[in-house]
Amino acid sequence: MKILKFGGSSVANHERISNVANIIQSYVKAGEKVAVAVSALGGATDLLIRMGKTAAGGDSSYKLSQEAFSTRHREVVNQLIDYDKHPAILNEIVEGQIELSNLLQGVYLTRELTARTLDYILSFGERSSAFILAQVLKQIGTEASYIDARKVIKTNDSYGRAKVFKEETYANIQKMWKEATGVPIVTGFLASSPQGFPTTLGRGGSDYTASILGAALEAEEIIIYTDVNGVLTADPRKVKKAFPVSTMTYAEAMEMSHFGARVIYPPTIVPALEKNIPIRIKNSFEPEAEGT
Ligand code: ADP
Ligand code: ASP
Ligand code: MG
Repeated sequence: MKILKFGGSSVANHERISNVANIIQSYVKAGEKVAVAVSALGGATDLLIRMGKTAAGGDSSYKLSQEAFSTRHREVVNQLIDYDKHPAILNEIVEGQIELSNLLQGVYLTRELTARTLDYILSFGERSSAFILAQVLKQIGTEASYIDARKVIKTNDSYGRAKVFKEETYANIQKMWKEATGVPIVTGFLASSPQGFPTTLGRGGSDYTASILGAALEAEEIIIYTDVNGVLTADPRKVKKAFPVSTMTYAEAMEMSHFGARVIYPPTIVPALEKNIPIRIKNSFEPEAEGT
């Protein structure tokens, strides 16, 4: 089986989400067994952080950002889901938005944003994107189930960058894999603490989610889809002539990511290395390209 991970830029709008659903479907049609980890819509996590901070600063304009967040997700649903299924799906989304709005109201009233509350706020990014992607897959005829990683990935309570409890998590993932109908679409980045509160795995942490899934399920490959053709010789945003490297060792990947190549989140390497699973970085905008 293979793990596929799609980053924020790969699911930034309805066209991108539809493209991702087609990529997943093409694996399934080719007879592959896959599980998917997905990030929040591009920019959504940053927006959620800003909302929390604005509310904590006593500035009620956080409501405008929240409205933008809601509208963006509702529009994606409107674009991608058949009209007759709108009510049920929008209902789920609206329920999440009410919960988010209550949370932000609490932050605004108390003028206090703890790391724990921030993780709770951030959870709405991946909860929304993964839920929507699962619905889109079903609609195009590929069975899928939405998996809230808070139920399977267990961590300590270091909110913002929580440490994963490996054994418990791997056992939960194996059970989830056995029980899920169709392709599991798992919220990247999220987990939960022993007290049951949402935790996050650090910025860029959906890569890590993919690697944890891969190690728990002894996947043959972990494929990270992003917006560039693999790991390049330098950050293409800074160096125009950067080109993709076809292969690299785990040690080289670890070194590059530690020195700031955000194409891969550093902790991602470890679970894959422990089980000797190859990680492939590919471009969701150019899926034919080999990648790294
Ligand atoms: P995603 O949303 O898919 O997780 P990220 O923005 O986290 O994507 O990572 C991809 C970005 O990493 C690229 O758009 C690129 O600008 C940046 N990057 C930095 N260094 C490198 C590198 N050496 N190779 C490839 N990409 C790099
Ligand atoms: N959405 C989270 C972030 O922006 C996780 C991720 O994208 O990997 O950091
Ligand atoms: Mg990333």
